[in-house]
Amino acid sequence: MSNQSSVHTLPPLPYAENALEPVISATTISFHYGKHHRAYLDNTNKLIAGTELADLSLEDLIRAVAGKPDKVAIFNNAAQTWNHTFYWNSLRPNGGGEPPATLKQAIQAAFGDMEKFKQELANAAVTQFGSGWAWLVRDGDTLKIVKTGNADNPLVSGMKPLLTIDVWEHAYYLDYQNRRADYVNAVIDKLLNWEFALANWG
Ligand code: MN
Repeated sequence: MSNQSSVHTLPPLPYAENALEPVISATTISFHYGKHHRAYLDNTNKLIAGTELADLSLEDLIRAVAGKPDKVAIFNNAAQTWNHTFYWNSLRPNGGGEPPATLKQAIQAAFGDMEKFKQELANAAVTQFGSGWAWLVRDGDTLKIVKTGNADNPLVSGMKPLLTIDVWEHAYYLDYQNRRADYVNAVIDKLLNWEFALANWG
């Protein structure tokens, strides 16, 4: 920790821990943000302390270590740190519903209509085998849905994430047990933060 300015910090949650109820409980958020996210962050800081990697932004760190067999632990913890901050911002109380008009048109162009988009996103989230993430991304001039395993994210493939859904069991097991689809559909219908997606898309 010789260079305080290089140490990554845990961003505050963008809402209260109980703000996503009843879709996601305060208990889930408390553990997910306060324990899981914090542990990924603390591990990242420990792993890079005193190395030249400590001078990089989190996104540059992720890109710098991606695919390097001797840097897997750093990648996993740094990417999970980034993914979780992105996930908190992908959700909001009283979210879901219709995207802003310009983004809605782009979604309709890419997926046919909003219903097909929701089905495709839910399908990616539900069929991700084991731990991982489902994402709406900008890839060049089009929008796509992708799923990634464990800590992987679309940044390292040159895509621009707009929204994500965490499908690690810790994201939903306290509230939904094995019913991942119920969690995913409730998040899509009630929590997606379309203003955040629009800001990332533009
Ligand atoms: Mn998680």
